[in-house]
Amino acid sequence: MRTLRDIPALREALDAVRRRDQRIALVPTMGNLHDGHLALVESARRHADVVVTTIFVNPMQFGAGEDLAAYPRTLEMDQAQLEAAGCDLLFAPDTAALYPRGLASQTQVRVPGVSEGLCGGSRPGHFDGVATVVSILFNLVQPHLACFGEKDYQQLAVIRKLVADLHFPIEVVGVPIVRAEDGLALSSRNGYLSAAERQAAPMLYRTLCRARDALEAGEAPEPVLAEAGEALRAAGFAPDYLELRATDLGPVTAATRDAVLLAAARLGPARLIDNLTLTLPS
Ligand code: AMP
Repeated sequence: MRTLRDIPALREALDAVRRRDQRIALVPTMGNLHDGHLALVESARRHADVVVTTIFVNPMQFGAGEDLAAYPRTLEMDQAQLEAAGCDLLFAPDTAALYPRGLASQTQVRVPGVSEGLCGGSRPGHFDGVATVVSILFNLVQPHLACFGEKDYQQLAVIRKLVADLHFPIEVVGVPIVRAEDGLALSSRNGYLSAAERQAAPMLYRTLCRARDALEAGEAPEPVLAEAGEALRAAGFAPDYLELRATDLGPVTAATRDAVLLAAARLGPARLIDNLTLTLPS
């Protein structure tokens, strides 16, 4: 696997790939890789000849007071994992390479609708940063497909709309959530948890499972969500949101069958997110 730090080197490497008529898959990440990221790489390998992973801790998607400075940067370990997973090219630019004229004057991409509410509500501007950096990476790599995790359910919806609205000729592949044995969705931010917090953390998944079962059994959403919020608070979480939406993130109506439960909650220093899809009874 080659690691490339600047745009000219990336373009040159990809020109050679395109001359060979090979299919390119892109896996955008912020690094500090775990098995969730590696599942994206595996999926990318199944769909393409050449896998390009990017590692970039994108300052534009962090709000004031968020964990940009503390975000774990573990390039050497990431390189070893990617090499073992069969990644072909790692693009790991610094901020000046992607935003050479500075962040303040950077052209931005905003995806209306799906970016609003949920994480977009608690993290204003977050999805503008995501949509902007992903657009830049799409333009630089020009992949045939790109893999994103379903753990970031709203992000995946934002990317799908971005691709449709800007006519990127890119297939978006969603990859199921990879969890620890106790159910906690793997996340780089789990590393912020103390031993006691890590023990409490799977309550987020368990609470979502209980709420899903109740909703699938026909219980009314409002009390189910209220009870789930209480359970989270009792376990030491400070919920940001806990919502039931249609799978396209629209509101649930009497006709909705395919739905998704989405949650974000703070536990100590970490903000954890998770979601579960479910089928509402008719
Ligand atoms: P991040 O490095 O957190 O920006 O994540 C990079 C990509 O990995 C995103 O598409 C995430 O949705 C995906 N991802 C992160 N954690 C998981 C997980 N536990 N299971 C599946 N995909 C994940």
